[in-house]
Amino acid sequence: MALKDIKSMNLAELEQEVKALGEKPYRAAQMYEWMHRKLCGGFGEMTNISAAFREKCEGNFSFPVLRVVDRLESAADGTCKFLFELPDGNVIESVLMKYRHGNSVCISSQVGCRMGCRFCASTLGGLTRNLAPSEMLEQVYEIQKLSGQRVSHIVVMGTGEPLDNLENLVRFIRMASDGNGLNISQRNITVSTCGLPDGIRALAEEELAVNLALSLHAPNDADRRKLMPVAERYALTEVFAALDEYYERTGRRLTFEYSLVANVNDSAQQAEELAALIKGKNCLVNLIPVNEVKERGFKRSRAENIQNFKNILEKKRINVTIRREMGSDINAACGQLRKSYTDRLRQQEGSRE
Ligand code: SAH
Repeated sequence: MALKDIKSMNLAELEQEVKALGEKPYRAAQMYEWMHRKLCGGFGEMTNISAAFREKCEGNFSFPVLRVVDRLESAADGTCKFLFELPDGNVIESVLMKYRHGNSVCISSQVGCRMGCRFCASTLGGLTRNLAPSEMLEQVYEIQKLSGQRVSHIVVMGTGEPLDNLENLVRFIRMASDGNGLNISQRNITVSTCGLPDGIRALAEEELAVNLALSLHAPNDADRRKLMPVAERYALTEVFAALDEYYERTGRRLTFEYSLVANVNDSAQQAEELAALIKGKNCLVNLIPVNEVKERGFKRSRAENIQNFKNILEKKRINVTIRREMGSDINAACGQLRKSYTDRLRQQEGSRE
């Protein structure tokens, strides 16, 4: 029988499990605290739980922990990139960014991704599997332990499409913001999506207070389809209808991410079109000079085009920022560390054959 993942259980579920194994229900709160507040590394560390019950737990539950296989720190801005190995041997990456307003961790939500965005490194190998809630939590826990600094913000913007793993994502958000755990405010959690309307609506139904970011990258369907296969499935009108619903339910300001690619989506006309598309919305546009991925061939926009794009939006009174590039000296961009690691492994395996 497969062991149940104890770190993906909320407190109420853990109480049920503990009772079913013949222990007092209050033990569940103690164990929850060990796992989600003290961030312990295994049952062995739970010193106020009897050895006999800990042993019983070992026989009934899995206790997923991530192992750091690589860690790179940017000399430029202190951004730290982590490559973690999951219990099944897959690897994922996460990033710690230090801002004035606090420490933010960018987590992966899947191993690989099946959305196929043409400029993105994370999707080159397709989707391997979803991450469990515990594996999303662990990225934050391990980084907090390794850095010795409290994490105050989470962005679900690493590898994967979070709304393609919605159930686990929602559980993760509830547990990360639980007062019995790390107690990270939902307002400090941002979920970034390539734009799955059903997923956006389903997330709205959960009545969470998390921020939503849409990876927009183009002001119309035709241009968007050149960059994102998902735009073949859903028209922007459908995506925006779902976003409006999300905004009505939550009142949270929307973010539009727009990665600028030279000669594809960075013209003055496209800036005007973007301004018209989002006019009147409570939103922020985040302009990101595209990170060049060798296999993809897209080039980043020239600095003056980026500035010009921003000026046009500002003239139309749209809130806009150019994303400060974090850790560009450490391969920090979007799945590139994981990719160089798996490429290396593959090469080694190839040379052994
Ligand atoms: N699947 C989700 C979250 C992961 S991608 C989403 O699409 O939003 C996080 C962000 O990084 C997205 O805006 C994505 O479009 C962007 N991104 C991916 N590869 C990039 C690259 N090479 N350069 C710039 N931005 C990139």
